[in-house]
Amino acid sequence: MKHLAIIPGDGIGKEVISVGTDVLEAAAQISSFDFDGEIFDIGSDRYLETGELLTDEDVSELRKKDAVYFGAIGDPRIKPGVLEQGILLRMRAVFDQYINLRPVTSWFPLVPLKREVPFDIHFLRENTEDFYMGAGGTFGASSPEAKVKIEREMYKLDIKLDARSSNGDDFAFEIGLLSRKGVERFADYAFRYAEARGDKKVTLVDKANVCTHIYGFQRSVFEAKSKEYGIDLEYMFVDAMAMAMIVRPETFGTVAVPNLFGDILTDLGAQLQGGLGMGGSGNINPGGLSMFEPIHGSAPDIAGQGKANPIAAVLAAQMLLNEMGYPDEGDILRNAVRHCLDAHMTTPDLGGKLRTEEVGKEICSFILNTKR
Ligand code: ATP
Repeated sequence: MKHLAIIPGDGIGKEVISVGTDVLEAAAQISSFDFDGEIFDIGSDRYLETGELLTDEDVSELRKKDAVYFGAIGDPRIKPGVLEQGILLRMRAVFDQYINLRPVTSWFPLVPLKREVPFDIHFLRENTEDFYMGAGGTFGASSPEAKVKIEREMYKLDIKLDARSSNGDDFAFEIGLLSRKGVERFADYAFRYAEARGDKKVTLVDKANVCTHIYGFQRSVFEAKSKEYGIDLEYMFVDAMAMAMIVRPETFGTVAVPNLFGDILTDLGAQLQGGLGMGGSGNINPGGLSMFEPIHGSAPDIAGQGKANPIAAVLAAQMLLNEMGYPDEGDILRNAVRHCLDAHMTTPDLGGKLRTEEVGKEICSFILNTKR
């Protein structure tokens, strides 16, 4: 029996997670997978009522669970960033979910490319370091010193900058950092992932010809791990990767990408596979608590209208099943999604006429009719 924390959150998060939970229940009915789900009231409504984002009590209750199934947060009544920083980013940091897994799959006919070649790229984005650490500041003639403090699960770091310029101008900086332990665990995860998928290589995306220090360091760690695991390592510069994803996406399997570039490439990937309504993602800590969510946000413009495409949430549930050790059940969810696309039983964003819950019903009945 798996214990799941279910956080529907805001807007369409509530609608798609309701479908996703039904779908998990259908999967439980036809297989040995079994779960109980506890709903956590974390999101904008509670914040507006009580001022609470992610409380210490939430964290200690969540720690008791096997995984988190998350909808979306975001509310036009609240300043952008408050909920994202206070809930989503905090959760990823507290539970040290250092891998962001985002598959990019050719869901024909949704792929906006001229060639119909199947592809299945699995992006592993490092989630805790690089240029997204919030490690930055400003300095100028009157204040030449700048301090940066970083707190991570693995380390605390104090950096002092004594900066003097010849022209007395003001400057701003943002530091990108990689730690050896951080890159090692990232590389370990990537090579193990490739091994499990049967991929012959790991593609490492960077910009080591310009950011030589940070990405040269990363390459040296990945090279050593490539030898250790006996799996090839391929390098791609991020700009070349953006082009290659359009002209030859079928040539990639497991792709490791640092935080900042990963943010951009995975959004390109989302469009390649048919848009926000088709993307599931996992924030993973292999030994700890992982969280699975659709890549889209709360979409307040369509919330409460039955227009939300639940497929991204269903694909997130598939990833949850895979991670919990139920890949066959995960495949059934995926087949159910394929069935809906083939039968044109989709929401308006994919050209269909169905409501969110109607797509959900179709997916559930496909699962229930699947032979054990
Ligand atoms: P947030 O700031 O929380 O990310 P947002 O509205 O800025 O929210 P998204 O929610 O990711 O960004 O979505 C952008 C737009 O894409 C939405 O306004 C909506 O029209 C569309 N969209 C997103 N997800 C879905 C979905 N599951 N089904 C249908 N349309 C969607």
